[in-house]
Amino acid sequence: MNWPDLRYLGIVGRKGRIPNWFIFINNNFLSSSSSTLLLSSYFINSSFTLASPCLLDHTVKDYSFYPQWAINLDSATQTLSVGRVCITYKKQNSAIMSHWLPVSPSADERSYNPCPGCALNIPALSKKSAIKQRCNSEKCFFNITLSETVGYPTRNAKVFAAYLPITLSTSWSYATSLALVHLMNPPSTASFTLSPSVKDNLDDDVLPSSVQSLYTD
Ligand SMILES: [Zn+2]
Repeated sequence: MNWPDLRYLGIVGRKGRIPNWFIFINNNFLSSSSSTLLLSSYFINSSFTLASPCLLDHTVKDYSFYPQWAINLDSATQTLSVGRVCITYKKQNSAIMSHWLPVSPSADERSYNPCPGCALNIPALSKKSAIKQRCNSEKCFFNITLSETVGYPTRNAKVFAAYLPITLSTSWSYATSLALVHLMNPPSTASFTLSPSVKDNLDDDVLPSSVQSLYTD
């Protein structure tokens, strides 16, 4: 994660400069200058990694307009898309999502523009009255599978002005890696319909006894 991501998550202080030790790690241990991924020699077994996914609010009423920033993984095309889940249909495991594109191809990017329309767009969706009235900055809407969709870790970024880019709280690389860990792990793919007891088990993840904790300052 980069420093602003750590700030958003409350892991480091909100104010002050990026400390030298963090810059040292960035300069010496990352796989490339445009990445926040460590060199493979610093990887630990991924089953030891605890990442809590950012789930969509599933208390939202079906058929009503309630936008949530989200990431969808289309399993058929292996494509990740960012946008707002606007209307959900839980019984059908589907939703209508708007499509947003990162302003730049950088992994650290956290600003998005509404997609002006691409191959994903289903024109009939933008004619639905709730979408027509509430989403006048967005042009590209498509149907998604809810179980292939997770929340984007961000404050509620409201879309006001037409066609202006929006800045979310965390970067493309952090948000998508969290989504991939969650959506690619078979036990948790049914996250949207998790019963409370399964959810509790997820929180109780216990590391193998061979794992040591290391603290650095
Ligand atoms: Zn699009």
